[in-house]
Amino acid sequence: MPEYPYLIVGGGMTADAAIHGIREVDASGAIGVIGAEADPPYNRPPLSKGLWKGDAETSIWRPQAPAGVTFHLGRRAERLDAKAKRVTDDQGTSYTFGKLLLATGGTPRRLPFQADEIIYFRTLADYRCLRALATASKRFGVLGGGFIGTEVAAALRMQGCDVTMLVPEAGLCARVFPADLAAFVTDYYRQKGVEVRTGEGVSGLERSGARNVLRTTGQQNVTVDAVVAGLGIQPNVELAQQAGLSVDNGIVVDEACRTSHPVVYAAGDVANFHNPALDTRMRVEHEDNANTMGSVAGRNMAGRATPYRHLPFFYSDLFELGYEAVGELDARHETVSDWKEPFREGVVYYLKNGRVRGVLLWNTWGQVDAARALIAEAGPFQASNLKGRIPGKA
Ligand SMILES: Cc1cc2nc3c(=O)[nH]c(=O)nc-3n(C[C@H](O)[C@H](O)[C@H](O)COP(=O)(O)OP(=O)(O)OC[C@H]3O[C@@H](n4cnc5c(N)ncnc54)[C@H](O)[C@@H]3O)c2cc1C
Repeated sequence: MPEYPYLIVGGGMTADAAIHGIREVDASGAIGVIGAEADPPYNRPPLSKGLWKGDAETSIWRPQAPAGVTFHLGRRAERLDAKAKRVTDDQGTSYTFGKLLLATGGTPRRLPFQADEIIYFRTLADYRCLRALATASKRFGVLGGGFIGTEVAAALRMQGCDVTMLVPEAGLCARVFPADLAAFVTDYYRQKGVEVRTGEGVSGLERSGARNVLRTTGQQNVTVDAVVAGLGIQPNVELAQQAGLSVDNGIVVDEACRTSHPVVYAAGDVANFHNPALDTRMRVEHEDNANTMGSVAGRNMAGRATPYRHLPFFYSDLFELGYEAVGELDARHETVSDWKEPFREGVVYYLKNGRVRGVLLWNTWGQVDAARALIAEAGPFQASNLKGRIPGKA
């Protein structure tokens, strides 16, 4: 039975960051990683961005793990006995641990009907599958108009594919952008040649020869060669639940990234933590959080007591448009837009009860720390005293 002072379940970016965090404190303690994917840790964001713009597939790999790390890949951890400090995988192998990190991330949300043809886009294997289809096929259906749907639709369109997006909301990214910006982005996608059907979802899929017919909630079905979906993720909390750990929209952790069991930690997309600047609990599905929280969790597993108080930022590319953002981007908040050039460059502030809860830096770069500082300020803020607060850098 493999025995590790440090065991990590999940082989993604959080796991990799944790490995390096552990090594900052403990130069030699053995680290075991159980990962369900066949691949060692890699960066996910390029799967819907750089790899479609000419970056080599080899560019996604994380730097080689330091000495003393053993990967058990292509294995899924199925049982956690926290009291006995033991994890058992789907091949029947049991591992004992001193400290355990759950870095299990999330699983794409699926439609309520069975359709093996749909690619629920998340992994390198999904990218390879879609890439091969994009070479051979012409017409794609993209389900969902959030982060993944918009990026994948742009990627396919840039390969010359025909793309129809089915978006239940009123516009692209309508849950995060104010209505006027969402409407602009929707028009912008249409100008790029993407058919965007807003207010329309999918109710089923049927095969028609080699093609797929998407039954929609609207008037007209869509016939496509292939279908890809980006409908959000659900945190992989099953192991934690089964072990009796506290779970509430993710695995609940304290500021040391420790779960309700003292030797079990959680970090990344799966973890629910308290952020002091926003004074709220949150679960963040973004790269900066995976890297920073993973590193803090790793250091703490190895004996440090570093609090995780970071307010993560995130980013996205939409054809030639791009942005960085911090905090709560919730279209239901009051928003104040400060455009240098309407919808092309500027800053959008998200307010609730006079406090800035989130900042969208639209084609505005190098201002993430300024946005964090503003969110940490007590306020109260109004539209008039926010204009020009974050000027943007040339
Ligand atoms: C296509 C794409 C583009 C993205 N672009 C951006 C971006 O532009 N900006 C941004 O900030 N963020 C982006 N993200 C989000 C970012 O990639 C995630 O926040 C990050 O990958 C989370 O890392 P994680 O390790 O916590 O979880 P995951 O990446 O989900 O990794 C968890 C790993 O654990 C494995 N696992 C789960 N359960 C088990 C188990 N029981 N046993 C063994 N292994 C298990 C999974 O198979 C997976 O390999 C993107 C994500 C995707 C999919």
